[in-house]
Amino acid sequence: MKSEGTKNNQGVLYIIATPIGNLQDMSFRAIEILKQVDCIAAEDTRHSLPLLQHYAISTPTFSLHEHNERDRAGIILDRLQNGESIALISDAGTPLISDPGYFLVREARGLGIRVIPIPGACAAIAALSVAGLPTDRFIFEGFLPVKTKGRVDRLTALKNESRTMIFYEAPHRILDLLQDMQSVFGQEREVVIARELTKKFETTYSAKLTELIPWVAQDTNQQRGEIVVLVSGTTESESLIPAAELLTLLLENLPLKQAVDLAAKITGERKNELYEQALLIKNKKL
Ligand code: SAM
Repeated sequence: MKSEGTKNNQGVLYIIATPIGNLQDMSFRAIEILKQVDCIAAEDTRHSLPLLQHYAISTPTFSLHEHNERDRAGIILDRLQNGESIALISDAGTPLISDPGYFLVREARGLGIRVIPIPGACAAIAALSVAGLPTDRFIFEGFLPVKTKGRVDRLTALKNESRTMIFYEAPHRILDLLQDMQSVFGQEREVVIARELTKKFETTYSAKLTELIPWVAQDTNQQRGEIVVLVSGTTESESLIPAAELLTLLLENLPLKQAVDLAAKITGERKNELYEQALLIKNKKL
């Protein structure tokens, strides 16, 4: 275990959260420290300029992004060891949360350099706080793989997850993601879309996947901007055996109506929905 203390002549690395849309969501402490440090490592210096100008912060900046983090980390660590204090910010929200900085923080801690968080906005936590899904236990999955196979594989691994799940997604992939979620989690799973949080067109919408997909499909505004997707964890009865698997097994030995009746009793799901699923399963086998 490395000590949290600062060696006498070393500087401090501050990890500073910035707003996720609304410039007012900046803490007094964040502004003060950004003014005081020797320099600011920003994911994209041009992107951060309006924020820094808004708060009259004139500290020198340089870029630290996913492609140069390893190179730049060496220089930053040298400067920290020589007594300079440096702040890390990302384009929005909390650095390291689906953003650069992990390598730098790990190396800094390894050298015994003090790393101090200046907390603030984080889209995942802001979305969770208004989603109306259980918050006592949750997992953050960040961005899923872009290609369908990788995405479906990851979702399949999460099929029996009982904690609330939080995902980040690009707007042009939102429909594909919801459709993949439906094929893996089933139509009944409750999902919340938190879009453009803290901004003018903020919307938070929750529904079962079966209602959510047509709603997003028919309103192209819902396929724009920045989006957090939250999925309720599976319930115990769901995790025992999903309806589709149960129906497949029952249909091997029973006529369709009996299979549907039995599946409805076991899962508690609606008969007409199970009937449609049973037809699909039967037709695929023909
Ligand atoms: N570090 C950031 C944080 O603390 O939330 C996340 C950075 S990640 C590169 C960007 C993703 O965060 C977006 O694609 C979106 O999924 C989510 N996000 C960021 N700002 C958001 C906002 N205002 N409303 C909804 N989602 C947002």
